[in-house]
Amino acid sequence: MTSNITWICAGCYACAVRCPNDIDITTVMDEMRLKALETSAECRRPEILRFHRMFLKNLSGRGRMYEMGLMGKLNLSKGKPFSNMSLAPKLVWTGRLHILPPKSLKGFKGWMRKVWKQKNLK
Ligand code: SF4
Repeated sequence: MTSNITWICAGCYACAVRCPNDIDITTVMDEMRLKALETSAECRRPEILRFHRMFLKNLSGRGRMYEMGLMGKLNLSKGKPFSNMSLAPKLVWTGRLHILPPKSLKGFKGWMRKVWKQKNLK
């Protein structure tokens, strides 16, 4: 539970897709993170936990990721508001980063509120 690997996992599903024994490692990682949060297991890298919470909060607002908002909040939390900003123009130009937040998925916010309440997370 104190291993960094569960927090570093990006949830890309590469391992789950390629596993010859059909083990869904990505879901195992998700469950490990939830268990760690529920049991208040110590995360040795608090910045990863902080990012994880910001990521979930960002996603739970609309059901879609707003990368620009996440980047901004992360930078502000680190006290470096302009960190990695030189990358933004190229990402915006190539359509990989959007200035405005995406539209919300219908009903997603209410559904997420139920999940947070059920899992006792904030
Ligand atoms: S989903 Fe699997 S391959 Fe992807 S980051 Fe997590 S452990 Fe690594």
